[in-house]
Amino acid sequence: MEHLRDMWRTASPGTHPLAGDLSALDDQWKEECLRQLRMIPGDVVSALSSRNVKVEAVAEAKMSPKGRTDYGGFYDPDRRTVVVSNKGFADDQGRNAMMVLHEMGHALDHAVGWVSKLAPFKALWKDAKPREGSYFQRTFGGTDPRTEMYAEACAAIWGHYQPDGFTVTDDLRTIVNELRHNVRSGEDL
Ligand SMILES: [Zn+2]
Repeated sequence: MEHLRDMWRTASPGTHPLAGDLSALDDQWKEECLRQLRMIPGDVVSALSSRNVKVEAVAEAKMSPKGRTDYGGFYDPDRRTVVVSNKGFADDQGRNAMMVLHEMGHALDHAVGWVSKLAPFKALWKDAKPREGSYFQRTFGGTDPRTEMYAEACAAIWGHYQPDGFTVTDDLRTIVNELRHNVRSGEDL
């Protein structure tokens, strides 16, 4: 861990181990992206960067996973890449949400074997009382409510905010904080 911290200190200002090419972002969103990356705990950063997870910015017009064009950001498990655009940051403005942290939550979920899709997570999901009709309670265009809850719980815990749509229970906090030690480096899950 220590060497990673040293690496940050010696790295040029404005960079981060999880930051890929962010040149497609406006300056203010590039700064915001880095600000969110710096909120991720050091051991999570280390685990994710060992799996070559990174954030990459693209022009809004190129955001079209699965034929959808309304994405502001998403996690691509095949490339282990969080893809962001100016639109995602603009959409987040004034909302209680942090896109980069949320998408990195999906990356951590992937790194620990998609725990949100395993049967035991279902009980935690129910206990967190996902709000009726929310992203965390029902499916929207192929989203998985439990997977979305896991990602947003990561974002809320790392970003120190209350998510809109469910309660961060002690169990959710524990699973985000403890399971990160189970990252399967290099394994293609
Ligand atoms: Zn998500």
